Amino acid sequence: MEFIKAGNLTIYPIILDVDHKLKSFNSYLVDDGHSVSLIDAGINKEEYWDLFISTLHRFGFDLSDLTGILVTHHHFDHVGLVNRIIDRASIPVYAHEKAIPRLRRDPEFMQQRIDFYKKLYEEMGCEEAGHAQIDYLLNAIEKHKHTAIKAEIIPLKKEIHCFKIIEVPGHSPDQVAFYNEEAKVLFGGDVLIDHISSNAFVEPNESGERILSLLQQMDSLNKCSALPLDYVFSGHGEIIANHKDLIETRLKNVEIKASKLLTLIKDGAPTANEIAKQYYKKIYESQFPLVMSEIIGHLDFLEVNRKVRTEMVDGVSHYYSY
Ligand SMILES: [Zn+2]
Repeated sequence: MEFIKAGNLTIYPIILDVDHKLKSFNSYLVDDGHSVSLIDAGINKEEYWDLFISTLHRFGFDLSDLTGILVTHHHFDHVGLVNRIIDRASIPVYAHEKAIPRLRRDPEFMQQRIDFYKKLYEEMGCEEAGHAQIDYLLNAIEKHKHTAIKAEIIPLKKEIHCFKIIEVPGHSPDQVAFYNEEAKVLFGGDVLIDHISSNAFVEPNESGERILSLLQQMDSLNKCSALPLDYVFSGHGEIIANHKDLIETRLKNVEIKASKLLTLIKDGAPTANEIAKQYYKKIYESQFPLVMSEIIGHLDFLEVNRKVRTEMVDGVSHYYSY
């Protein structure tokens, strides 16, 4: 793909295809005539760096032409090249303020997360798989220490360059979308992906309480649906030209999945862990955190819609249908 003109924007997609369910890692150079934004920074791999640099050069840009790196959310596949870029050129990095402790891998913040997941997995009845995940997370803190973003991160306000900032939490608490009204385009990170539904990861808020991530994600999708857009530029997969229909499908799918879980509860599966095992079978183990986020999110959906209620039994949350 070469470039796309929309309003007074010229958009240069940087898309690395991968043989993986995400299909590709996408970031975008956006030139509005006054500023050149890099929206997201892909993965930290040699081939992504090469693709990024060759895209810059092919269209006559240099690293120092970048006026800012705009981060949609803190996940590693969206900030991979940030350190490498700022080692070579002093480019301001912008992200949601909630992204900052995450990108810095602030030790106190990381410990709070560990405590949160430990308690969560106990309450959801996860036992062994929960303990294994906590061990994994503890290891990951050590292993990924060096990926902390070193640059000063400037918290996003209402606008940046030619974009309005739209808060779209759910997939992650810090997720934002960059909206250009005149060009009718939205750079949404992972709020909406063409070929897969975006996982609403379970996360704690600042006080360590669980965020109702899936419900947030649904609100964010509704927010996007209300925007008059020609294109949504996503973090993965194809560029989206029919966002309203796609969002409708995603929201419908939440209801469908939730009703399947309700059947399992009616058939006697008492805990989120048991429901997860029965629903996901094999991938329960291989994708444990993702699976638990999905189940817990859909149980929240059932609970707010008064289809199920919960009760603590010996420190474990049990779900009952009404
Ligand atoms: Zn992503």
